[in-house]
Amino acid sequence: MRRDDKLIFEKGAEGRIGYTFPDETIPNYPIEELIPKNQIRGNSPQLPSCSEVEVVRHFTNLSRLNHSIDSGFYPLGSCTMKYNPKINESTAMISGLVNLHPYQPESTIQGALELMYFLQQSLAEISGMDEVTLQPAAGAHGELTGILLIRAYHEDRGDTKRKTVIVPDSAHGTNPATAAMCGYDVKQVASNEKGRVNLNALKELLNEETAAIMLTNPNTLGLFEDDILEIQKMAHDNGTLLYYDGANMNAIMGKIRPGDMGFDVLHYNLHKTFSTPHGMGGPGSGAVGVKAKLLPYLPVPQVRKDEERYYLDYGIPKTIGKVKGFYGNFNVLIRAATYILTMGADGIKAASEMAVLNANYLRKQIVERLAVPFGNQCMHEFVADGSALKKFGLKTLDFAKALLDYGIHPPTVYFPLIVHEAMMIEPTETESKETLDQFVQVVDKILEEANSDPERLKNAPYTTPVRRLNELKANKDLDVRFKK
Ligand SMILES: *Cc1c(COP(=O)(O)O)cnc(C)c1O
Repeated sequence: MRRDDKLIFEKGAEGRIGYTFPDETIPNYPIEELIPKNQIRGNSPQLPSCSEVEVVRHFTNLSRLNHSIDSGFYPLGSCTMKYNPKINESTAMISGLVNLHPYQPESTIQGALELMYFLQQSLAEISGMDEVTLQPAAGAHGELTGILLIRAYHEDRGDTKRKTVIVPDSAHGTNPATAAMCGYDVKQVASNEKGRVNLNALKELLNEETAAIMLTNPNTLGLFEDDILEIQKMAHDNGTLLYYDGANMNAIMGKIRPGDMGFDVLHYNLHKTFSTPHGMGGPGSGAVGVKAKLLPYLPVPQVRKDEERYYLDYGIPKTIGKVKGFYGNFNVLIRAATYILTMGADGIKAASEMAVLNANYLRKQIVERLAVPFGNQCMHEFVADGSALKKFGLKTLDFAKALLDYGIHPPTVYFPLIVHEAMMIEPTETESKETLDQFVQVVDKILEEANSDPERLKNAPYTTPVRRLNELKANKDLDVRFKK
């Protein structure tokens, strides 16, 4: 059937309706008594007039235009677009939770506070931190909170000469951006030939002005920083704090803890590792965990517990203040708590093991087909190099676009920057061996085609609703208004 390009406004017909309200829910007040006259609109709004089935078809068809995790594989790098179990959605819809109001008295929201307390405790245990705040609304927001905590710590000690933050060249772009937002100068530390932090380069950068080092381990190449204990010693001997970008903890949960590696503060992306939805900028959760030395600066309120009850503690002496309205994105917190409870300690550990096993299974096969420049073994992800396509006049981008014709979402491409034709592949723990094998078959088909008919690949994809977009124009010249 031909694809339907009509907007909802162009569908239906005058007077057609798709809803029925019971009469008694509409109070019979004259509208003028409820709303001041000058605020009542002159014309009725130009809403679509569609029947129920027209609305259902419209939105169902729209939902099919995009690739989705419910319809196909997403080997999508650090964004961890992993499958989010449907039970998370059911618990997030429990009416007693959905209908809470943030100004309700504490005695009436004990269950919600218990859930948040449980989540704070569980996340602290998973990461080896002393306490967790659930307020930040995204990973980048968690970073901001974490670096503000570090700044408060140094300032409180009268240590005001610290003006720089060190970030590796493989870091996620939000790391340097966060440090700059907090008023620090960013210094980039190079990777060595093994794709790890170059210790000599780090030594040279580290001095009495260094407030923090931001790292992630495993790093963005999916490699474990073997020298982490030495790095933490160098940092702490220098009075520098260590920040852990824990956006993607799939590789380590239940196996090793950033707190035990010597990190002082970290953020989690509950909307990545802890399986809550993750799209279009929110809502998310970038909970932040801290070691004891940062406790006096935590945002308020913190959910705490005494003998009788859970309560919101605003009495944190040197708090950096609030970083978000109320208590964080509560609906995301419900989903993350559900995930932790349904998985259990063993399940969470098994998820990490499976994430690493799946990544290595794929890695081994991709090495035989394309290059994987760093490491012989990876953690939850690896970065392939598509430079081999150059001999056919093709690029990683062509390869990524061709995957779409096989119902596979492209991996993250051209990141991290230290691999030229980078393709960052993270299968995640939820994918079966059959799916991974099928992915490899598709890779083979595309490589065959690269050899036999490279011109065709230059114009892929062929089967998607839109073909190759001018991404620059789509970003700079965005026009999504409806015009008749
Ligand atoms: C996704 C991600 C972030 C940023 O998280 P947002 O929720 O998108 O702000 C930071 N660091 C790493 C490594 C990430 O993968």
